[in-house]
Order: sequence, then structure tokens, then C-alpha cells
Amino acid sequence: RRAKFDRTGVVEWTPNLDTNQRVDLRQLTELRAGLRSGHLRLHYQPLHDAKTRRIHGAEALVRWQHPQRGLLPPGVFLPDAERSDVILELTDWVLAEALHQASVWQAAGHHIPVSVNLPPAYLAQDRAVGTILTLLDLEQVPATMLTVEITETAVLTRPEQVAAQLTELRARGVRVAIDDFGTGYTSLGLLPELPIDELKIDRSFVIRMHDSVAHATIIDSVIAIARSLGMTVVAEGVEDEPTAADLTTAGVDLLQGFGLNRPKPPEFLPGLLSASGAAYATP
Ligand code: C2E
Ligand code: MG
Ligand code: MG
Ligand code: MG
Repeated sequence: RRAKFDRTGVVEWTPNLDTNQRVDLRQLTELRAGLRSGHLRLHYQPLHDAKTRRIHGAEALVRWQHPQRGLLPPGVFLPDAERSDVILELTDWVLAEALHQASVWQAAGHHIPVSVNLPPAYLAQDRAVGTILTLLDLEQVPATMLTVEITETAVLTRPEQVAAQLTELRARGVRVAIDDFGTGYTSLGLLPELPIDELKIDRSFVIRMHDSVAHATIIDSVIAIARSLGMTVVAEGVEDEPTAADLTTAGVDLLQGFGLNRPKPPEFLPGLLSASGAAYATP
């Protein structure tokens, strides 16, 4: 399928769309050009140790610095990117940029583990592990400083291939997290089989834990299961102190949310670290 536009001259390009869903092709073409012109940015949101509140790492979150529309959140452009092969090039950039940033921090004496979101299509490529290991090597960042966040969907789309890639990454020391846990279709029985280190409880459970006994109970159960499987539990979307306190009492290991820190450009992280006590993980 070919796309033709004549806004600033003719752009001809085959996006390899693999679904029939509606895609804003004009924006997608612009995104790919923006990606190649250096218009994407990563912001970093700290993950805090629940008990000490010290910064334990940071999740890289992509934004698009659009020349006319300003700084765009991923919700505006990622869904379309994920329906095309643009997501693969974008994810290569995100990995390279996040690991480069980790190496810059490292050189300045800040050992900040970084988490990167990996879309299902990325891990479905045979080259995924090789690319990640090459980037770690290039930037001289220890594998233990990288966590890849995948969704339940990724695990279920091509289970054997994805599991094999995750197993290899973990063997090299990379950590694996399941993002937005509780929103997908992973059967609990599958959990002990999965090569994962960390469960991130979805924000939709966290925001309702105070007015829904059911949601609070689900959180308690996820913590109990993760504990018994030796996994780290992260709560995302922690917006206020009472929630942070209750999650800590319930046994959550790490907290992430606007109530602790919003995602920020990389230059803010060293300052946040000193403010948090700077007792972050060292390799
Ligand atoms: P996610 O991976 O679950 O990331 C957390 C999202 O929740 C971020 O939104 C973050 O800003 C937001 N958030 C964090 N704390 C709070 C809170 O206390 N309250 C509320 N209301 N929101 C909070 P963001 O940056 O807009 O990203 C949205 C989603 O886009 C991410 O969800 C992730 O699925 C995807 N995404 C972001 N960056 C990347 C990337 O580089 N690659 C890929 N493949 N996906 C990405
Ligand atoms: Mg995430
Ligand atoms: Mg998440
Ligand atoms: Mg989420």
C-alpha cells in the first residue's frame, strides 16, 4: 500500500500497515520524518523505593517535539505507529537514546537504572535481543541497569518466540517487567512460567483502591502472588500520599506516579536524585 502526499512536495512511502484500522497516514509520515530529524524526546519518570522513597530508577517515556503542535504525548502518535513498521524504528531510537542517557548519567556518577517500553511487534523480531545487547555494549552500560517493560499482549501474541527472547535477555542480566498488569488476559496459571522479574500494577486498580474494596483486594492478591514467585511489585499512577502509604503497607516494592514525580526531561534527574537521598541502586 502506497501513500502519496503533496504538502511539501510528494512523499511516497510504503508504511507496511498490517491492519485495516484507521490510521492517520499524514501524521504517520510526519512522525517518521520527525524521528529522522531528531524531533523525538524521552522524558523520565522516577520509580521510588516504597519504604525509603528514594529514587530506584526511571522509566523512559517518549514525546514528540512537533514544530507546530508543541510537545505531543505518546497517546497522540503511538497507536498509529504501532499499527505500522514505524514502531520498530521508533523503538530502536528509544532504546539507543535511553541507554545513551544512562551512560551519560553513569559517567557523571549517577547510576540510574532505566526502564524502556517494548511494544509487542518489537520482540516478535528475531533481531530484538541482538540489538539490545549491542546497544548495551556500545554504551558500556551493565545489562542489570536496563529493565524492559512489555505488556500481557506481547507475551500472548507469539508466546514461544517472545519467551525465548525474554529468557535470553534475562540470562544476560536485563530485567523484564510486565506493564499495566491486570488489564490483559494473562491467566494467573501462566505467571510462574513467564520469564519476568517485575509486575507493574495498572493505574486503573491503584486509582480505585480507596473507594473499591474489590480493587484493593485485587492489589493485595497481585502482591501475594508476586511475592510467592519472587517478583518485584511496582504500583503505577500513584497520585497522592495516602495511596502511597497504603500501597507501602500492602507490600508494594516500588512506587511511580505524579504524586511522587512527574516525567521530566533528563537534565532534571540528577537533581531529583540528590533530593531523594541519592541511595539508588548501584551495579
Ligand atoms: P505506561 O508505560 O504505563 O507509562 C505510564 C504512563 O502513565 C505515562 O504516560 C505516565 O506519564 C503516566 N503516569 C504516570 N504517573 C501517573 C499518575 O500518577 N497519574 C496519571 N494520570 N498518569 C500517570 P505517557 O507518558 O503519556 O505514556 C502513555 C503510554 O504510552 C505508556 O504507558 C506506554 O504504554 C506508552 N509509551 C510511552 N513511551 C513509550 C515508548 O518509548 N515506547 C513505547 N512502545 N510505548 C511508550
Ligand atoms: Mg511502561
Ligand atoms: Mg505502565
Ligand atoms: Mg499504564
